[in-house]
Amino acid sequence: MLLKTVTSSGFGSTYSMGIVKLKKGREKSLRHRHPWIYSGAIETVDSAPEMGGLVTVLGSRGEFLARGYYNENSRIPVRVLEYDEEVEIDADWWRAKISAAIDARAVLSADAGTDAYRLVNSEADQLPGLVADRYGEVIVVQFRTAGADRMRDTIVKALTEELEPRTVIERSDTASRAREGLAPSTGVLQGDELEEAEILENGRRFGVDFTGGQKTGFYLDQRGNRRHVAAFASGCRVLDAFAYTGAFAINALAQGAQSATIVDSSAVALRMAEENIARNDIDTSKVEFVQADVFELLRTYRTEGRRYDMVVLDPPKFALSRHQLDKAMRGYKDVNMLAMQLLEPGGILAT
Ligand code: SAH
Repeated sequence: MLLKTVTSSGFGSTYSMGIVKLKKGREKSLRHRHPWIYSGAIETVDSAPEMGGLVTVLGSRGEFLARGYYNENSRIPVRVLEYDEEVEIDADWWRAKISAAIDARAVLSADAGTDAYRLVNSEADQLPGLVADRYGEVIVVQFRTAGADRMRDTIVKALTEELEPRTVIERSDTASRAREGLAPSTGVLQGDELEEAEILENGRRFGVDFTGGQKTGFYLDQRGNRRHVAAFASGCRVLDAFAYTGAFAINALAQGAQSATIVDSSAVALRMAEENIARNDIDTSKVEFVQADVFELLRTYRTEGRRYDMVVLDPPKFALSRHQLDKAMRGYKDVNMLAMQLLEPGGILAT
């Protein structure tokens, strides 16, 4: 059996790298570069490292497949970092990958109308478990796995050296951490103590609450959709359902929407939406804020015969696991059907 001990100084101290050997026939997804190894695919683990430490992954015949980090508490004990046997995974490796992720966002950093966007998107940047978002002069990080958490100092140092932010804030309060056996961890890691900032997206201003806000503070993934939807909004009466801090409505109003109904169940989010309307010098008489359950409210509006020219539906995930799939499907069907019933003929549903 091929079980040589590999040493690495990647985490500051020299230690033996564990060896994970896969079951026969379970190598395929890795060969196709899917970076997750489920516990069911593992035949043996030798010299298992501490939580989040590095392992070499071998196929059932002992051949090298990849290197990654290991956490026996997770249903996905290994996440792959590297497929090249010659490449050592040390602090420089992490720095290079972070640098590459930042370079890949050059187009975004060059956009004068936007200063908030995701800098590092986990597996998509070959950095599983790591999310880093830029909010103007602030960087918010999430270490979602033990393997990423273990490298926190190296990661924060790399981000700081590359971007010289005013503050680095941690929001590692994701459900994924519990699944890894990690406690939530939040707070300012470096720089000025601050809890809020104002960002620019598509030329509009938004407040972001780093302490109480959802996710890392803002739904950065909707930037393109907000712009796209707003392009159809001129003259429209818009219903922004699941609005959070009102970003879809504000983009639409800025593009000439006639009015907007901003709906969310969170009072905190709606207060921020009100502030955002003011930040963008939008006439408040065009805007209505409604704290309600969207399902109930849309039924009420249907009964009342309310009509909109545009409805935006951006619900949260309804299925947290496979078991909730049927219920979730019904939820999506219901909410979309209700939204369509509120539209004028020829109206637009953005869902
Ligand atoms: N469209 C938003 C992001 C929406 S995230 C944006 O562009 O930023 C989903 C939002 O739905 C959250 O703000 C959450 O508070 C809200 N929400 C979840 N369930 C809800 C429900 N049943 N009724 C109303 N709002 C709900």
